[in-house]
Amino acid sequence: MRRLAVAITGLELPAVEKISESRAEDPFQVTIATLLSARTQDATTFAASERLFGKAATPETMATLTVKQIEKLIYPVSFYRYKARYIKATCAKLIKDFGGRTPATMDELLTLPGVGRKTANLVLILAYQSRTNICVDTHVHRIANRLGWIRTKTPEETEQALYRATEARWWPYINLYLVTWGQNVCRPVYPRCPACAIQDLCPRIGVTVVSKTPPPPITLEEV
Ligand code: SF4
Repeated sequence: MRRLAVAITGLELPAVEKISESRAEDPFQVTIATLLSARTQDATTFAASERLFGKAATPETMATLTVKQIEKLIYPVSFYRYKARYIKATCAKLIKDFGGRTPATMDELLTLPGVGRKTANLVLILAYQSRTNICVDTHVHRIANRLGWIRTKTPEETEQALYRATEARWWPYINLYLVTWGQNVCRPVYPRCPACAIQDLCPRIGVTVVSKTPPPPITLEEV
């Protein structure tokens, strides 16, 4: 993890991290951006979030938009029709049950339409500075298994296994480090193992073909 902390310097941050930074870690906007990010490219998530928050940045204002308007604003994120309905329903629930505030507990977050453990964990880490949660997405699941930290079949299993396999001081950073690494180096197919900062520590479990193309160089200024 220490090596990854250095190695990700200068690489593009995941979209939800960027949105969280630029929007003062607003819990509502982090929740909506994470919903939008599911199975969607980062650039698309970022642009759709900016369009949506440009029109409506709170549950109260977003609730006044129709599902059709939300669809238009978030297109072309994947499953934009479902996501627009979830967003509308989440705004209504936040207003009705939480006085317009985004809750700060896992149990309460999971009552919001479309919010699963991945979204809830990321909201708790980014917006509420939790140090006791790990957010597992497809990158974290894949890389933790390639590294041999755990042996699991689903992201849900991975989250629980990582609580047992890793030191608690790293929990809030696992998502940031492994998602950034997964998007730039340890990609789903053709991972860039020859250029990987932790290749000597990695048994590459399940990796059959690697890329010989090095990642773009990081300049000294960026480091
Ligand atoms: S050595 Fe390859 S499989 Fe292991 S973490 Fe690096 S890129 Fe991923």
